Amino acid sequence: MTVERYRIAIVGAGLAGLTASHLLRQHGVHDHLVLEARPRWGGRILTTPVNDTQPQQFDLGPTWFWPSMQPAFGQFLHDLDLPRFAQHEDGLTVLERPGQPPQHLRGYSQAEPSMRLAGSMAALVDRLAADLPPAQLRLGHRVQALEVMEGGVVVMGNDISSIENSPAPEVPPRPLCMADQVLLALPPRLVAHHLRFDPPLPPTLQRAWQATGTWMAPHAKYLAVYERPFWRAQGLSGAARSGRGPMVEVHDASLPDGGAALFGFIGVSAQSRTRVSDATLLALCRAQLVRLFGPQAAALQAEHLKDWAQDPFTATAADLEEPPEHRPAPPAGAPEGAWRSRILGIGSEWSPQFPGYLAGAVDAASRGVQALLGRRL
Ligand SMILES: Cc1cc2nc3c(=O)[nH]c(=O)nc-3n(C[C@H](O)[C@H](O)[C@H](O)COP(=O)(O)OP(=O)(O)OC[C@H]3O[C@@H](n4cnc5c(N)ncnc54)[C@H](O)[C@@H]3O)c2cc1C
Repeated sequence: MTVERYRIAIVGAGLAGLTASHLLRQHGVHDHLVLEARPRWGGRILTTPVNDTQPQQFDLGPTWFWPSMQPAFGQFLHDLDLPRFAQHEDGLTVLERPGQPPQHLRGYSQAEPSMRLAGSMAALVDRLAADLPPAQLRLGHRVQALEVMEGGVVVMGNDISSIENSPAPEVPPRPLCMADQVLLALPPRLVAHHLRFDPPLPPTLQRAWQATGTWMAPHAKYLAVYERPFWRAQGLSGAARSGRGPMVEVHDASLPDGGAALFGFIGVSAQSRTRVSDATLLALCRAQLVRLFGPQAAALQAEHLKDWAQDPFTATAADLEEPPEHRPAPPAGAPEGAWRSRILGIGSEWSPQFPGYLAGAVDAASRGVQALLGRRL
């Protein structure tokens, strides 16, 4: 059997993988293949449509970016011609303390508001994927092993498109392609946990990648869709803080061109959520929105719960057990041995500047491509 050969294989079609492919193509390197386990691109960027007839999307993953603190990322979005708007913050914030009725407080407004993308974060990854020739993007292809052979790396795995979201199909991996170099565009902990390296990675590198928590992997997001942003008419911003839960923070998720919604981060730990059914959690979130925003909050058009801790292509068991924190980026590659110059980590957690953030995915991917091409981009 002949194995397809590429100059570069990119594992993962989240923001980092798609950015790397985009930058490579911009610099004339078309000889690369992107392998993605899920049946969709975007990774932690995930959206849901307002309804069957409206194309607008709400975010179930990342929502915000901060161009004044992340100027290179702001410029990247600008160059891609993606319009932005400021997070809605006008109005009072609701504060809920245990054992007390909710209070309305003047919200603090940030000097630089958090920014959102028109068309949701999907606009970003869809834009990057649009120019990627379909033959160079293999969705539903899970990478399981990397083997160094004379003249390159054999990328081993399986086409799992018919067994969606399966973390571990017990099918022996087969060669998916061979490449001179492999860009690992996924969280370091997923690499350490799910990919077998032959020969093994240096133990210090393996431990450093395993110890790097995946940002937001332990979290779950709830989204409630409404006909109108009714809270604004009551002088409320849609923001709330709660010590009672299950949501600890709520924000206005409405879209400027139609589609009203509130979203919240669930404060119940990932471990505890495994003991609660989705139906129970949804009912508790609905009841909380009624407490916070009044009876109109009961009239929702749709609701969604996305538990990232249960998603095997984002989280591992280790992510459920520790408090999430932004850790310093681990080394991106092996300094010596068989893996030197063969693999490079470019997922967001490898960004020295913004590990775990969207800006980090673009930073790490840019650094990786720069290192491969041996020149500044
Ligand atoms: C709920 C939530 C809210 C967030 N909010 C924000 C925010 O407001 N602002 C912000 O800056 N950041 C936020 N983040 C973080 C942001 O989403 C990430 O920094 C960014 O999306 C990471 O991109 P990535 O490409 O590095 O990784 P990922 O998006 O995780 O992409 C990795 C890709 O690799 C694929 N993959 C995994 N295993 C394999 C395998 N074995 N074989 C092949 N493919 C594989 C995955 O399916 C995925 O597509 C949030 C994240 C979450 C979950």
